[in-house]
Amino acid sequence: MKYSKMAALVLLTVSLGGCGNLLGIKLLAPERFGMDGVAEGVYIETGADAQAVADLRAAMLRAEAAIRAAYGNVVSRPVVHACRTEGCYEAFGGMGSRAKVYGDRILLSPRGFNWHFLAHEWSHAELRTRLNFSAWWRLPTWFDEGLAVSVSEAPEHSEAHWQFLVAQDIPRPGRDELMGFASSRLWMDAVRRYGVTQNAQRRATGAPEVRPVYAAAGHEVRPWLSRVGSAGLLALIEGLNRGQVFDALYPVMARVTE
Ligand SMILES: [Zn+2]
Repeated sequence: MKYSKMAALVLLTVSLGGCGNLLGIKLLAPERFGMDGVAEGVYIETGADAQAVADLRAAMLRAEAAIRAAYGNVVSRPVVHACRTEGCYEAFGGMGSRAKVYGDRILLSPRGFNWHFLAHEWSHAELRTRLNFSAWWRLPTWFDEGLAVSVSEAPEHSEAHWQFLVAQDIPRPGRDELMGFASSRLWMDAVRRYGVTQNAQRRATGAPEVRPVYAAAGHEVRPWLSRVGSAGLLALIEGLNRGQVFDALYPVMARVTE
């Protein structure tokens, strides 16, 4: 979920021959840093039992099916690294989040070890693969995240969670505010502002955790995706790749398909 275009760019730059001390750089050589390959492009923390390996393989298939259902077919093949301990996740640069993606390399924490979080990160990788650089750079983060939330069906970001936030009158962004979260920095600022950082405290007091910004993005994009389907999503991608402006494409398509 923690997704940074800048981190992806830095990793890309570093992988092209530079050097750096980013922890995520270790993903370029996972077997040297405590990961075992269990299938082509799939790694799991050394010491994982057979059940965990089987669970990861099943999660890969389920996540791929979710990407295919949304995008019509699957053009990206992200390399997946699954941590079974928090120490592993931190060692590869994960902090606090459940999963993250660096370019086409997905890192799962033990808390994100399921098909939902794999599909979420895979959606980011799939969309990035389908967009040319200019289109990807201009893509609003709220849409990228809302699409990932819709594709992954994670209960933590579901419509039921949104309705819970509404019923409890828990602060959450409205539609116009959500659409202002255009960059990953604005997105992460909003995620923090709307209380994700207080989830540990909420857990400690027995209160349910809240994820208002992800839930808001899902609440916006989920009905859009179900209306326009794969064809509409592919048309949006094509329009962006042709240089059309997102803010013109998205509302027009939403209106046409209503
Ligand atoms: Zn995300």
